[in-house]
Amino acid sequence: MIKRNTVQRALVLEAVLRLRSHPTADEIYAEISKICPSISRATVYRNLQQLCEQGEIRRREIPGSPDRFDHLTNDHCHARCTLCGKVTDIEVEKVPDMEALVKDDHGFAISGMNLIFDGICPECRRKRND
Ligand SMILES: [Zn+2]
Ligand SMILES: [Zn+2]
Repeated sequence: MIKRNTVQRALVLEAVLRLRSHPTADEIYAEISKICPSISRATVYRNLQQLCEQGEIRRREIPGSPDRFDHLTNDHCHARCTLCGKVTDIEVEKVPDMEALVKDDHGFAISGMNLIFDGICPECRRKRND
């Protein structure tokens, strides 16, 4: 028999994969409660936390907005639209010079990076031009 916890965790992971665009915990909860109305917000939050600890998903801290959850667990950059709040993956190659700067000039052993560009997304740019 599959444990209830396992089912709930699978539901949460599935929602993150389906939503794709770096959903917040509230968005994930809203998505899951459509399928499983009995699930509590606390359960969703707890499972998100556990999935992050297991490395299945990653929490992205975005200054000035709620944390997002990312189905891509590698290091990559993000661009946030300052109008609609959408967070987009930016698949840039590693930035060697910046890493060298942090490592060599500041003596840090780098464990990850969290680079966020602020700007206006193509959709919002189009709307503004209309
Ligand atoms: Zn936008
Ligand atoms: Zn991402």
